[in-house]
Amino acid sequence: MPEGHTLHRIAAGLHAAFAGRAVAVSSPQGRFASGAGLLDGLEVVEARAHGKHLFVEFSGERILHVHLGLIGTFTIDAVAYVGERPVTGQVRCRIATEEHVADLRGPMTCAVITPDEEKAVHAKLGPDPLRDTDAEAAWERIHRSGKSIAALLMEQHVLAGVGNVYRCEVLFRHRINPMTPGRRLGRASWELVWADLRRLLPLGVATSRIVTVADEVEQVESALAKGEDVHLAERTSYVYKRNGQECRVCGSRVRAKDVAGRTLYWCGNCQRRS
Ligand SMILES: [Zn+2]
Repeated sequence: MPEGHTLHRIAAGLHAAFAGRAVAVSSPQGRFASGAGLLDGLEVVEARAHGKHLFVEFSGERILHVHLGLIGTFTIDAVAYVGERPVTGQVRCRIATEEHVADLRGPMTCAVITPDEEKAVHAKLGPDPLRDTDAEAAWERIHRSGKSIAALLMEQHVLAGVGNVYRCEVLFRHRINPMTPGRRLGRASWELVWADLRRLLPLGVATSRIVTVADEVEQVESALAKGEDVHLAERTSYVYKRNGQECRVCGSRVRAKDVAGRTLYWCGNCQRRS
């Protein structure tokens, strides 16, 4: 499932391609034909994301609300690459100008909503490390909860945009025991997690890859600071999908267990902090 950095990357791409322009909106697949009809010919005002939700605001206070769900994709291409603009696969919604074509496939949600309806979506979402500087609302929920921090990090009304990879990796990076109940988690631990997500997610937006291992984090940060292209080897992680393998830090076996519907990976030896 796409994590928040993917949605922010898409929002930035849509904004760069379409903001300030009148666009053609269609539904080649047909399932979004009436919604597309409400947007066709309007100007795009702004594209923005909150957690895993994407909002494309059009003139006339019409907002396209998208949630990719498990399998959705939203690709943006310069028309030079699209050529004749053929439709590939089941394109629910296409946004196009003379220069760009964006195709949405397989979303869980694709609807035209009002500003009030957008507000209602935001109200159900916790702070997003890519959007918000203040995470007090997240801490308020966490430190009152008996659920594990591993479960709480996946709840979008607690914290928006964090998915399974970031949850596993950020807890490992700070040696936090994932089973620690929210109400037993130290405020200092939470502040480390939040600050680290604020550091890591932008690297995901920049590279479209989840970067969490220390030497790669430094490599990407250094390249971005110099304005250089980033070339990363095959994806690596500390614990994510490494169950049964040796922990990169202590050599113990990385464990795996279902927590909040997704497989949590962690090192029981390293992660003892609460
Ligand atoms: Zn370890």
